[in-house]
Amino acid sequence: MTATAAQIIDGKSYAEGLRARIAGHVARLKAEHGVTPGLAVVIVGHDPASEIYVANKARQTVEAGMHSEKYELPETTSEGELLALVDRLNGDPNIHGILVQLPLPRQIDPTRVILAISPDKDVDCFTPASVGKLQIGLPGPVSCTPLGCLMLLRDFVGNLAGKHAVVVGRSNLVGKPMAQLLLRENCTVTIAHSRTADLPGIVRQADIVVAAVGRPHIIKGDWIKPGAAVIDVGVNRVPAPDKGKGKTRLVGDVDTQAAREVAGWITPVPGGVGPMTIACLLANTVTTASLINGLPPPRDLTP
Ligand code: NAP
Repeated sequence: MTATAAQIIDGKSYAEGLRARIAGHVARLKAEHGVTPGLAVVIVGHDPASEIYVANKARQTVEAGMHSEKYELPETTSEGELLALVDRLNGDPNIHGILVQLPLPRQIDPTRVILAISPDKDVDCFTPASVGKLQIGLPGPVSCTPLGCLMLLRDFVGNLAGKHAVVVGRSNLVGKPMAQLLLRENCTVTIAHSRTADLPGIVRQADIVVAAVGRPHIIKGDWIKPGAAVIDVGVNRVPAPDKGKGKTRLVGDVDTQAAREVAGWITPVPGGVGPMTIACLLANTVTTASLINGLPPPRDLTP
């Protein structure tokens, strides 16, 4: 056990500050260029978790001074109907970001829908064009959760160059773009996944650990190198009998209590990475609104 516990990276408070900065950029875009960044969010069917998430997105978009459109389509919507809406939004000059909430009902192929979104308005950074731009360092939106993690790391840890970063998880949504961003920061990057041999040994080498697995407390406290920065992306709902019968709580992929005795910095779950994701969606909409109008995106909203 070390004498000092890790500094807690307060993502909730950082995200509040970020949203205030975004509101400032939106106000400037309106006043100086007559551009109001607009985000359209499309949800199909009734997934309660998605509905809450989409409502939060819409509220925060309006609070930042942006134009918000929400499309709630019935569960029975056909792929053709959804593609027609995406096509209309692609051509709508008031919309600079299009987000189609996943999962979609069975009759709709999510890949076809993602491929139909204009790369210029792809604020989730799912299209091959956006992924390619991130890879070769061209300006554009960056996957929201990894962008949020990077902002936190830069703010709390500072210069990341030369550090060994271990990203656990290789999804297109989190692990791969995270690794790409850390490489751009001149980290030495290792990507671990379900077939990695000796995960504890690899994590023990890390100056920066990003856990994006989706398994409660898979990363143990004694795997953490003293002083390392630990970013816990995982969100897992587990039983919490201490809170009452049938109650649950959210935990991350890292055994936070043990890890914070060793780490230099650590994100809590909840209140760490989670709040950054929606804030970065708004940041991406400002980025795409700027680029669509031939303006440079704000430096503090891009990697
Ligand atoms: P995913 O698509 O399921 O990917 C999980 C990754 O973890 C895969 O690459 C998988 O490896 C790897 N993995 C699984 N078991 C492993 C093991 N035993 N050892 C090492 N690696 C293992 O999940 P995701 O979409 O990236 O999300 C990951 C977590 O982050 C989830 O808890 C999700 O809810 C959370 N999340 C949070 C936010 C937020 O805003 N806070 C945003 C997005 C995601 P293989 O590729 O080999 O299968």
